[in-house]
Amino acid sequence: MIKLNALNKVYGKGSDAVHALRDVSLHVPQGKIFGVIGASGAGKSTLIRCVNLLERPTNGKVVVDDQDLTALSDAELTLARRQIGMIFQHFNLLSSRSVFANVAFPLELAGWDKARIKGRVDELLALVGLEARAHAYPSELSGGQKQRVAIARALAPAPKVLLCDEATSALDPQTTRSILTLLKEINVKLGLTILLITHEMDVVKGICDEVAIISDGSLIEQGEVAWFFSNA
Ligand code: ADP
Ligand code: ADP
Repeated sequence: MIKLNALNKVYGKGSDAVHALRDVSLHVPQGKIFGVIGASGAGKSTLIRCVNLLERPTNGKVVVDDQDLTALSDAELTLARRQIGMIFQHFNLLSSRSVFANVAFPLELAGWDKARIKGRVDELLALVGLEARAHAYPSELSGGQKQRVAIARALAPAPKVLLCDEATSALDPQTTRSILTLLKEINVKLGLTILLITHEMDVVKGICDEVAIISDGSLIEQGEVAWFFSNA
């Protein structure tokens, strides 16, 4: 579902150049949860931002659902990005909009009519357990509830892939577990493919099927999580 082929990313030029990704190749099969773990500065956030081309790789190929994103025009890329949802460490909700209106936002952009948006948003809020907070504003929510809204918003256009950028790093351990449980439920129920980055081994152990370790821009090991921890 996601194929990264020999990705390189260099920030800056000359003596200031930082080689953030070095020949990164990985394959996330449909329906799997794939984790990339590494220390701060290892290149995790650059890697995940290259998957939806928030960051353009210096070279290499990004293929999502058999489409080479690096070869698309801007207009084609806008459409292709509907297949790729993303959630963030700091949620990135729109503070002036209610929970309902945050989840509705991508559907408004995609041109859905009001009645269809209402049906879809209600369904998504039920999925993440927030029906009762539809009219609340982000400032009235806990961190875990904010991340649930962000998940509902990311899922609204029915993406095939969900990218999670340190999605539980701002949450306490108990809330982290509840969000990981929700992500696993969504993975199973919708068959959604998930690529996540984290610096926390518990996240990998908790929900990932496969893991890769990134260090100084290179993937140094990859394998099934069960195999990884049987050797630990
Ligand atoms: P991680 O997410 O693992 O902390 P990053 O992908 O943020 O790692 O960073 C990898 C390397 O790239 C670091 O050396 C970082 O300083 C550098 N870097 C990240 N973003 C930029 C940028 N916009 N400009 C220059 N260097 C950057
Ligand atoms: P259906 O009810 O037959 O699944 P929908 O129109 O509700 O049809 O869904 C259209 C697409 O959205 C399908 O690909 C489905 O897998 C996906 N989908 C359905 N419900 C959700 C949801 N809660 N979150 C994300 N995607 C969903």
